[in-house]
Order: sequence, then C-alpha cells, then structure tokens
Amino acid sequence: MSSYNPLLSEWNTPFNTPPFQLIETSHFLPAVEEAVKSAEKDIELIANNPDIPTFNNTIAALDKSGEILTRITSVLFNLNSAETNKLLQEAAQQASPILTRFSNDITLNTKLFERIVNIFENKETSGFTSEQKILIERKYRSFMLGGAGLKENDRKRFREISEELATLSLKFDENVLEETNSWILHLTDKSDLEGLPGSIVEVAAKEALSRDKEGWVFTLHYPSYIPFMQYSGKRYLREKMLRAYSSRAFTGNENDNSDIVIKIVNLRLEISRMLGFSTFAEMVLGDRMADTPEKVEKFLEELYTASKPAAFRDLNTIRSYAKENGLEEQLERWDWAYYSEKLKKKLYDIDDEILKPFFSLDKVESAVFSLATKLYGLRFSPNKNIPVYNKEVRAFEVYDNDDTFLSILYLDYHPRQGKGGGAWMTSYRDQRKEKNKDIRPFISIVANFTRPSDSRPSLLSFSELTTFLHEFGHSLHGMLTRCTYESLSGTNVARDFVELPSQFMENYAYEKEWLDSFAIHYQTGEKIPEEIIWKIKEAATFNEGYGCYRQLSFGFLDMAWHSIKEPVEGNIADFETGVMSKTELFPPIAGLNMSASFGHIFGGGYAAGYYGYKWAEVLDADAFEYFTETGIFNNKTAESFRKNILEKGGTEYPAALYRKFRGKDPSIHALLKRSGLEVS
Ligand SMILES: [Zn+2]
Repeated sequence: MSSYNPLLSEWNTPFNTPPFQLIETSHFLPAVEEAVKSAEKDIELIANNPDIPTFNNTIAALDKSGEILTRITSVLFNLNSAETNKLLQEAAQQASPILTRFSNDITLNTKLFERIVNIFENKETSGFTSEQKILIERKYRSFMLGGAGLKENDRKRFREISEELATLSLKFDENVLEETNSWILHLTDKSDLEGLPGSIVEVAAKEALSRDKEGWVFTLHYPSYIPFMQYSGKRYLREKMLRAYSSRAFTGNENDNSDIVIKIVNLRLEISRMLGFSTFAEMVLGDRMADTPEKVEKFLEELYTASKPAAFRDLNTIRSYAKENGLEEQLERWDWAYYSEKLKKKLYDIDDEILKPFFSLDKVESAVFSLATKLYGLRFSPNKNIPVYNKEVRAFEVYDNDDTFLSILYLDYHPRQGKGGGAWMTSYRDQRKEKNKDIRPFISIVANFTRPSDSRPSLLSFSELTTFLHEFGHSLHGMLTRCTYESLSGTNVARDFVELPSQFMENYAYEKEWLDSFAIHYQTGEKIPEEIIWKIKEAATFNEGYGCYRQLSFGFLDMAWHSIKEPVEGNIADFETGVMSKTELFPPIAGLNMSASFGHIFGGGYAAGYYGYKWAEVLDADAFEYFTETGIFNNKTAESFRKNILEKGGTEYPAALYRKFRGKDPSIHALLKRSGLEVS
C-alpha cells in the first residue's frame, strides 16, 4: 500500500477541482484523522496567541482554520449522498464521531472563547464592517449555544440534556416509523377496491404477496396512504385509514409518544433558560430573518386572518360538490382528499403523461441556462477534462457577463444505485477571499430525474421541472456569491431566507413567456398549448386556501410547544386542541393527534421553524411580483436581485438585504394573489 493520499495532496486538476479519479474509499479515514490533527494545531495557535485578540488573529483565523479538513469532508459527505456504497458509508460513520469530538473541543476551548467574547463585547466600537460584525455575532452565538459560556456545573447538566434530547428525538422517530410500519389495511373482497386506479391496486397486490397474504394490502406509507385517501370510493375504509394514520404513536401502546413530547419540550425549555433565553423559540429564532417569536406569531396571525375566507370558501366548495355527488352525511376529514381529487380532475384534467412530452431534459437544461444568461449574462461551457465521480456527471465552467470565471457547476441528473432520493444542491468548495484573491466555488446539482429509455429521451414531469428550477436557484446563490469569509458566503444564510433564491426560480415554470421558449413536444414539435399552461396555473391554486390554513395550523402548534415559559405536564391532546381549535375546519374526533407524530419538530430540526415554509413562500412571491411588474426578464430588476441577494450571502441581515432589493419589506399580498387566496 502506498502512502500517497490524494485527499492530503495538492490537486493538480483544472481549477483545482477534486481529483475524483484518484480518490479511493480507503483514503478517507486516514485523511480525516490527519486533517483533524492539523486543524487542532490551527485552533491551538489561535487560542494561545500571545497578542491581544483581534478580528484577524481570532475570528478570521477561526473561519480559515481546518481548510484541508473542510475540503476532505465535503468530498466524503457529498459522495456519501450521491455515489455511496457499504464501504463509503462505513468510512462516513467512522469519521462522524471524530468530527463531532473535534467540534465539541473547539466550542469548549475556554481560551478561544474568551478571545471571542472580548471581540464580541467591543464589536460596536472597533470600526468593523457589517460583514465582520455579522461573522463575530455568528461565531459568538455558535459558541454560546454550544454551552461555552456555562460554568462547570451547568456544563455537565447541559451535556446531559443535549444527549437526552438527541436520544428522545431518535426514539420519537423510531416510534412513528414503527407505528407506520405495523398497521396495514388488508382487503380480500374485490368490491372494496372501488375507485382505486389499477396501478395502485397492483402495488397493493404485490404488497400482499410480499407478506404472504391473499388479496391486497395498503399501508400508512405515503405512496399507499395518499392515493387510497384520494381514490377509494369506500367511505368506511377511508375513515379506518385516516383514523389509523392520525393516531400513530398516540394509542397508549409501547410506541406512544405522549410522554416523549412532554419531556422534549420541557428539556428544550430548560436548556434555553440555562443559556439565558426565556423560551426555546426565542433561542432558536435569534439568527433568523424573523428573529423573535413575536415576529413569527404576528406573521402567522396575519396570514391566518387573510386566508380564513379562502379556507372556508374551499371547504364550502368541496362540501357542496360532495353533496351533489351523493354524500348524505356531513363532510368529514376522511372525505376531503377524495372529493377534492374528483373535483380537481373535473376542472383541470391534466396529468404528467400529457405534460412530460413537452419537457425533455435536454431542452429544459438549455432553457434553464438561457434563463440565467438572460437575467444575469451567465455563460456555461462544458469541460470534459474536469474529473467527475461518475461518468454520467457533467462539469461546466460558468462565466460572468464580462467573461470572468465564476464557478464550476456539476450536474448529476438520474437515479442510480448508491444515490439518495430527491434532489439537492451542494458544494465541493465555498467561495471566499484570500488576500484579495477570489477563490471561486464548486457547485453541484444532484437529482433523480426520470431516465431516458430506448424509445424516448428523458422527459420531466412538471414537478421535476420545478425541482430543477429550485435547485438551480440555490446554485445561483452559491455561484454568484461575492463575500470575504467562507462561513458567510453563498447559501450560508439564515434558515428562513435560504429558500428565497430557489423558490423564486420556480415561478418561471408558470410563465408562458418562458415556457414558450422551449416547451415543444419531443415527437410532434408542437408548442405547449396555451390551454395547458392555463390549467397548470389554475390547478396550482386549487384548494390553496385550505392548504395554507393547514400549514398555518402546524406553524401555530410548533410555536406553542416551543413558547412555553414553564414546564408543562399532562395531556398532549388538551394542549394541542387548545392551540389548533382556531384553525379546525372539521368536527373534532377523539383519539386523533398531530403532535405525537409531528416528526419535523420532535424528530427533525424544524422546531420553532415550521413557519419557515410559509415565510419563504411570502418572500418568493413578493420578490417575483417585482419581476412581473417590471418584466420577468428585466435586467435592471435581475441586477438588483443579484447585487442585493444572490451575491451577498449572509454578510448583511436578510431583512436589510431584502429591503435594498425590493425597496420595501415583503408583504403577504403577492402570495395571497398568486395562490388565489383573495376572496372578495
Ligand atoms: Zn431548497
């Protein structure tokens, strides 16, 4: 075995991109170990510097430290998502604890923290730029939230709570998964399949077969549950399914999450108090665009009041439609999806098979590139000499309108074994400046778009088209950035601001002017008919009043659990009903509960963040409205979006950046208009 390790050597490739062809899985772990050692030395040098702490010798130095480690881990984790195998997964798993320990050691380095505190306390009087001030605040905050400011006794309790919370969240998710997996609807009578499309029945038959059962098996997993609720003509079966789905982890068995919910919110409160906050929401929101619980509540309330008429409009529409179609009892929640789907089909009969032939991937790609050329003057030039990790991946050099080099862009479109599901944008190198030299980024889009077959090219569904635009929007944020410090550049912005560039781009999918430029039937050469564009647009607003209301109800519930000022006890159903009754459109049903399976906030990382979905929609609708007012390809508007949003990363507060771009604060009205929520 040779000791040569490309991960630790210089990269003599075009633009110093990762030399994928030289990297072997066995290189990762030794490289990570070696790089952590050298990063530890960087940290010690900063912490033990005899000079008085300055921005450069502490904050900037910290931002630059561990450069090689960052380079290695981004290759490791990006490949582990896009091109993995058992060995690579093992390498990632072995690297993780080493990296966690390293980052904990940094946070708990007292000498280093003292230097940061010193700079933080003098940040208003030291003549720092706004970018420097924000970097100081971010570093200070991450140390504070990591427990760096705590006394030794409190540190111990802090560690205990952190570990307990991690365990409880895992257990929460496990319980939901277990409950989702363990319940099935087993049908043996053919008449019970009434209304279900053949493809869904087929899957249910296979499911039954795999379980050694006769007939058909439906499960609580989305791909089975959702179509069942949309199409099953058997009302009592829909009721059964919904009751099972909505009482997961809330039936009093060993998977019940009630106690876990109470424990999680109380421990989150305790940790927030230790760190000097009055609620968990206040702690979490500190670095968001909506930076206080009051702002979030105000936002949710405003949207709630505005969308209420539309929610009731939708409810009445579906109620009367159901009545006309034979429903004699009152409309219940298990009737909603069924009658909605029927009405939607009647009004806008479009499906993916009609749309796909107009969206061949090669045409979509060149249309997306042209859009970036039209808006920002970008030029994309393929370069086959740039190493890639799979022969399907293509690499492009991206140039600005004055021909200066901006970025590398990798495109990796299709599903493969070893690639995770969904689509995402990521980077192999973030932008930063080093002694006036602009180090440009390496951006990548990874997707799972339908593969071409022998008889047809890769044809995208409409949602794949919007996904492409979405990830490309994130990529523009990554590629166009012009910042000084790596941890503020590109998409390193507030959580409730990061989806603005991506969701903004999705708007183009509904614009005739853009669709006309490329949406041509791959066989007949026919242009996408105007009627279809109209239907796409209209269908997107269908039941949006109801949809918005539902999202808001989850937002309220999330905020309520994380705004408690005293520990709670007792019944999670009572707490939930108290919060959600104002957004309730259906008669209450005992035994159903949302909190017990609300994985976003109790399992995943959306605690006090669920409002962010609607927040981002408000931003992207308001931003795009500016384009529709001035022309969707208007260069001046695009220039302002670029200069104030896409180039700036996190170097200024998001609210200020937005105001510079738009000339005013975002308002909810563009979203209300776009979603058809303005009821007169
Ligand atoms: Zn996104």
